Amino acid sequence: MSIIQSVQAIPIRIPRDTPYLGKLEDGVTVTDTGYFVRPGNRSVYSMYDQSLLVKITTADGITGWGECVAFVAPQANAAIIREVIGPLLVGRDVTDPVVLYHDLYDMMRVRGFFGGYYHDTISAVDIAVWDAYGKCVDQPVCKLLGGRRHQILPAYVSGLPMPTLDERVQLAKQWQARGFDAFKFASAVSHEGTADEMAALREGLGPKTDILCDMHWKHSAPEAIRLIDAMDRYNLCVAEAPCRPEDIQGQADVAHAVRCPVGIGEELRTTFEYLPRLEKRAIGVAQPEMGRTGISSFMEICQLCRAFHCNIMPHASIGIGIFQAASLHASVVLPNLQYHEYQHSIFDKNLAFVNTDMCCKNGQFHLPTGPGLGIEPNDKALACCIESA
Ligand code: MG
Repeated sequence: MSIIQSVQAIPIRIPRDTPYLGKLEDGVTVTDTGYFVRPGNRSVYSMYDQSLLVKITTADGITGWGECVAFVAPQANAAIIREVIGPLLVGRDVTDPVVLYHDLYDMMRVRGFFGGYYHDTISAVDIAVWDAYGKCVDQPVCKLLGGRRHQILPAYVSGLPMPTLDERVQLAKQWQARGFDAFKFASAVSHEGTADEMAALREGLGPKTDILCDMHWKHSAPEAIRLIDAMDRYNLCVAEAPCRPEDIQGQADVAHAVRCPVGIGEELRTTFEYLPRLEKRAIGVAQPEMGRTGISSFMEICQLCRAFHCNIMPHASIGIGIFQAASLHASVVLPNLQYHEYQHSIFDKNLAFVNTDMCCKNGQFHLPTGPGLGIEPNDKALACCIESA
């Protein structure tokens, strides 16, 4: 038993040299608060890497760290922890992580919150509770989740943030020379054409490389089917997010019409959201995002996917590495793991903000060692707290 004494929320903002997904398109403007919309997928992005950190301290001096996806207005996530979640968790036991997660999930049902910002926020808390639990019993989190199955965690390189197709192919080849042989490109920035980009990458990388395409929810189902067929002439590994997340029937229609697996799931947070898509066989490969699910819900989702014989390729979003470490701990347990996403332009840069031995080299992730998650933010990260700016 280890009783929670305080819960602290720390929204952080880290400058980037190049915006996520590469330089801004002509005519795109940035707001005074640092946001812009990419015309390719009509989605808002920040000029910064932003996330929310959570620090839980127990009465016997244990510290647990969590983090969630919060690249748009992380102050909103912080407010709900400071006002509501933190005070309600004081006095609870960190060795009850699943119970605490379900209590937090349940308490906003009547308010109509089953996902969104609220679930992202409780994900950070859930990860911090698991980290503290691991430190309390002196075990790595993967052991508490059922045991370590995988010694090797295969990684795919995600994103090729260069302005021209030729440069993107060259960048992929550089990564290939460093021992990586699976890649994902983003159709939102395939300005020369998505099928042409697939053809050029296949030509440059050879026949054995796994190539995935993130289609960013951009298409109607018939459009997506045509485009996936065009890419699959060059052996597409996974077609990610082909049509809008609200269009469950469209996702299913695409999944049934194409030969390659459809990747779905980075925007979904619970089994309640996965189940109707799994029942329709709309998901070929599940891509849960730890920074939105937290550990407790991530494990529930992966267990549900296993019942549908569905492989897992965890998504890796923008953070300093704490929810990424949690995702690696959960992933080494899974019997149906295929790859873990490696967002090199975020992961490598942001290792400067954490104390950990976690790394990604020669095509694979290395799980951080130590009790709990094996990662903590350093002073440089804490200096990036938005309120201290
Ligand atoms: Mg994606």
